[in-house]
Amino acid sequence: MKTVYSAACVLFALSLLAASPVRAQTAADTKQLAHDIFKQLIEINTTDSVGNVTTAAEAVAKRLRDAGFSETDVIVAGPNDRKKNLVARIHGTGKRKPILFIGHLDVVEARREDWTTDPFEFIEKDGYFYGRGAEDMKDGDAILASNFIRLKKEGFVPDRDLILALTADEEGGASNGIDWLIKKHRDWIEAEYSINLDGGEFEKEKGKRLLAGLQASEKVYADYQFESLNPGGHSSVPRPDNAIYHLAGALARLQSFAFPAKINEITRNFFEHMAALASGPTAADLKAVAQQPPDAGAIARLSTIPYYNTLLRTTCVATMLTGGHAPNALPQMARANVNCRIFPGEDPEEVRRTLEKVANDPKVTVRVVPQITEDGTVIPLVSVPPSPLLPEVTGAMERTVGAVWPGVPLVATMEAGATDGKYLRIAGIPTFGISCMFFELGDNRAHGKDERVGVQDFYDGVEFCNHLMHELAGGKH
Ligand SMILES: [Zn+2]
Repeated sequence: MKTVYSAACVLFALSLLAASPVRAQTAADTKQLAHDIFKQLIEINTTDSVGNVTTAAEAVAKRLRDAGFSETDVIVAGPNDRKKNLVARIHGTGKRKPILFIGHLDVVEARREDWTTDPFEFIEKDGYFYGRGAEDMKDGDAILASNFIRLKKEGFVPDRDLILALTADEEGGASNGIDWLIKKHRDWIEAEYSINLDGGEFEKEKGKRLLAGLQASEKVYADYQFESLNPGGHSSVPRPDNAIYHLAGALARLQSFAFPAKINEITRNFFEHMAALASGPTAADLKAVAQQPPDAGAIARLSTIPYYNTLLRTTCVATMLTGGHAPNALPQMARANVNCRIFPGEDPEEVRRTLEKVANDPKVTVRVVPQITEDGTVIPLVSVPPSPLLPEVTGAMERTVGAVWPGVPLVATMEAGATDGKYLRIAGIPTFGISCMFFELGDNRAHGKDERVGVQDFYDGVEFCNHLMHELAGGKH
């Protein structure tokens, strides 16, 4: 998943590691390796329906072993044959607690007929890499895997263990890998904090680099079911109470409803930061919502822009619809899925009650759709705490961004979507989304058609991640 909200951080550019010829050579090799892993992963279908995450995990495991990782430092394991996760480790001096780097190997469904090219073929065209997972997030998986191999080959001895976990079912499915690892093998991934390449996008606009995101919080994902039941009957004798009409009326009322706007410390700082980067009336509105109290007119105007609207409030939107059982029968059932992204701190049950009020029809019920894991456990719907901005993480990011892209501000963000970071945050492992790559504002194709990442943005990300790992894990190299 991917988006922004946040505490702006002032940056200090410090000098980075000097590039020696040996490192330069390794950097070129790593670029090629990252490309090859990226291609390999895109061409392994890892959708929940017909794909296989284990094949992808095994492919990365083989590359790690071939590069010198010992058998015991590379684990492929999971709850079933199709959903195994990869966990690998580089041993450090143990001076500090480990850092966990995470990415997910599964991808959202993609149909050939919906795409310009085959979504499971890795294609380089017009300066972009295309394929399902090109943005979300086989690019990040390839960056992590290739850099773990690079660190191994460099003989880098970090001052702490570095753990890599590439996992299943972030996008859906019943075998979420991070959840499984926390519950079954927490010792494999125990860390002081986690870096998640599936969040904290770096934003650019018309090619100009605007900001480097550090995702420290995210909205909570929740599905609600709107349902209307009816005795039905023969459609030649219609009655006024019709399950489809009841449901349609409730959804129409939802369409014109907006949850109240909310601003917290992180979003306020984010809007302040964006005000400095934007121009014209939008800049003035961003500044006005960052004021205390925020300007109501500015909130109303910014709410018309989907990107800002989702940062300003809980959003709920109809996403799926079913109903009826025959063309010549009155419907006995009509049902809609309403997907909500809940503002941090708001109670999901309170959101349900609000939806019930909005539906405003005793013939329409609103209930939470439980998320259930493989073994039948219901994942509790809880508010996810933001991660505290650890100075060693923000410091390492400031130094890395300052050295690689001087002048680009580091901005802590809230993600409008949800990532695996939530499992770790709930488990007490602070998690920071850092995508390492720039993406064009307004061209988010994750989960959509013709998903892509810029070729240069990808290669820059490979190099950025290497610098960041050195900054986070010090040590000798
Ligand atoms: Zn993702």
